[in-house]
Amino acid sequence: MSKLQTSVIAALLAFGAVSLVIAYAQVPEGSSRESALLPAAQTETVPSVVPSSTEANLTPSESAIAPQSSQSQPAQANTPDVAAAVPASVSRGLIYLDPGHQRKGNAQQEPVSPGSRETKAKVTGGTRGVATGKPEYVLNLEVAVLLKEALIARGFEVQMTREDHDVDISNAERAEMANAADAQLAVRIHADGNDSPKAKGFSVLYPDAGVRSTQSIQPASQMAAAAILEALKAGTDAASRGMVARSDLSGFNWSKVPVVLIELGFMTNPTEDKQLSEPEYQQQLADAIADGIDSYMKNKED
Ligand SMILES: [Zn+2]
Repeated sequence: MSKLQTSVIAALLAFGAVSLVIAYAQVPEGSSRESALLPAAQTETVPSVVPSSTEANLTPSESAIAPQSSQSQPAQANTPDVAAAVPASVSRGLIYLDPGHQRKGNAQQEPVSPGSRETKAKVTGGTRGVATGKPEYVLNLEVAVLLKEALIARGFEVQMTREDHDVDISNAERAEMANAADAQLAVRIHADGNDSPKAKGFSVLYPDAGVRSTQSIQPASQMAAAAILEALKAGTDAASRGMVARSDLSGFNWSKVPVVLIELGFMTNPTEDKQLSEPEYQQQLADAIADGIDSYMKNKED
């Protein structure tokens, strides 16, 4: 009796041990690649591992194929991976566009540069056309959208801080968006205002060489500003007011990528205000700015 019991127990133990060995031998086959995704699988029984790892294996590839299954053979060959790789491989670099201002300014304060005790409004309302009545934030976005298209046509990748007026993005945040994207150049689009209705013409602003936070991007920013100014002179008949170094702009001082600000013209000058809203002139401006960016990016590579 006791011998029989012992043998039965021994046999059961032996069977259990073999089952365990089989179980553990099977786990790595089915789940080795998914083990990181399914931490519980290794300590659980085999049956729960196999179906879940099978699902993990099949579901993503099936779902990737499914949307294309009804399409023709060439479309199927063009897998999502290949399609996504094409624009990146031919892109001439990322340009970040910031159409200045927004529908409602934000008077809350932010440091004018990293670590500074001096503060400025997060974002102001901008100027307004004396003849058109158009707010600056509208004009800035109109030209920025044309510039985006002109840059894409030249092979650049473009991202924008806003494509809508109803946003609340401070000037420092706009700079940090371009920083986070590791843009090759940030281009801020604005229009000018002045007490005198006679003031007219475009200008290109860049970070002043005396600002500590932008030391590393200052020379490149100045180069880009020069290239854009020259292209605006060549591409429009408008008056050039030249390049202006600025140390007081949060949108410059927070930037870790080369940055410029283009003042397209004066919305406080009735003649220029009307011209700034003409579609042909907006296209001229966009094309000229794109040419300037193009020439800066070419020279930068040399
Ligand atoms: Zn402005």
